[in-house]
Amino acid sequence: MSKDYYEILGVNKNASDAEIKKAYRKLAMQYHPDRNPGDEEAENKFREMSEAYEVLSDPQKRAQFDQYGRVFDNNGFGGGGGASGAGGYDAETIFEEFFGDVFGDFFGSAGRSRSRKRPTRGSDIKLTQEIEFEEAVFGTNVEVSVPRVVNCHRCGGTGAEPDGMETCDRCGGAGTIQNRQGFFAISQTCPTCSGTGQKIKDVCRECRGDGAKRQHKKLSVKIPAGIEDGMTIRITGEGNEGQHGGPSGDLFLVVKVKPHKLFQRKGRDIFLELPISFTDAILGKELEIPTLEEKENIKIKAGSQPGDRITLKGKGVPDVQGYGIGNMYVDLKVVLPTKLTKDQKILLEKFDEETSEETYKSEKSIWDRMKQFFS
Ligand SMILES: [Zn+2]
Ligand SMILES: [Zn+2]
Repeated sequence: MSKDYYEILGVNKNASDAEIKKAYRKLAMQYHPDRNPGDEEAENKFREMSEAYEVLSDPQKRAQFDQYGRVFDNNGFGGGGGASGAGGYDAETIFEEFFGDVFGDFFGSAGRSRSRKRPTRGSDIKLTQEIEFEEAVFGTNVEVSVPRVVNCHRCGGTGAEPDGMETCDRCGGAGTIQNRQGFFAISQTCPTCSGTGQKIKDVCRECRGDGAKRQHKKLSVKIPAGIEDGMTIRITGEGNEGQHGGPSGDLFLVVKVKPHKLFQRKGRDIFLELPISFTDAILGKELEIPTLEEKENIKIKAGSQPGDRITLKGKGVPDVQGYGIGNMYVDLKVVLPTKLTKDQKILLEKFDEETSEETYKSEKSIWDRMKQFFS
């Protein structure tokens, strides 16, 4: 003979409707694909028991099955059963009608409907990571700890211990209650179990009933050379875990770059304000200055003016996309003395006596204009 639906559900041939329902519910909780990801045997069992339940819960089909050992209708169970039945049959739907959103009810956000059973993408996670100025310039690897929400693998999201569900005492497992109004009996969803017919008896030890938990995952993230303050790195699939087989969300790492004590940065270029003495500016000098790579000797031309800029080509920051490298700009800040010794004062007075327009030759035009202004 073909399949024995009674045997599949583990009930005898005289079982009442309530007993059949109860037996199915218990098995379905055990073999639901969500609780047995990737387990083909469990999946087959689940389909088989859903098929058995569909037949035995329908008085007409059950009678037919009792009499002939098979069901003759066009809903896919013809030919004495077998999961080969085409169309009309959807284990998930039957299950949903039973359990509503018992599965996948995360963090108590109850009240959403059965659409929650569909594969849902996990939400994204945004984290901020602070790095040193030099790390941004040359690139680095950072270790981050991502607080991901993952499905509880102990309960598969039910929030109950294995076998920790019990029949709702208010509705007796039916999921609906009858309200008498005059001559009419109105059926409504059981408010205690929200129509699932089940309630949690033993709360899952792992997640304490949330169905999900937060798990810190350590990740090593490569920060590319040249990254700028405020840029975001996206790491696919490292966000919160999806539900019902949906993909995980993404991790967005916002990079904060600490300022440098000496250097300023604009895109790929580095700026350094270099204080020099007025004598160095006037007489010229070779100076050692700090650069990103360490240090470098630069030449201050004799007669340099405050604000003069020296360009060091290719001494800036590499482009984050790999397109070339920026420059370093050294801006001269001429510092004037404020405390002079007697001797220095005499020297400067002598210098002044010997000063003519020629001394400031390069700025002659400005002097000319000044003179015109005061005359
Ligand atoms: Zn759990
Ligand atoms: Zn109930």
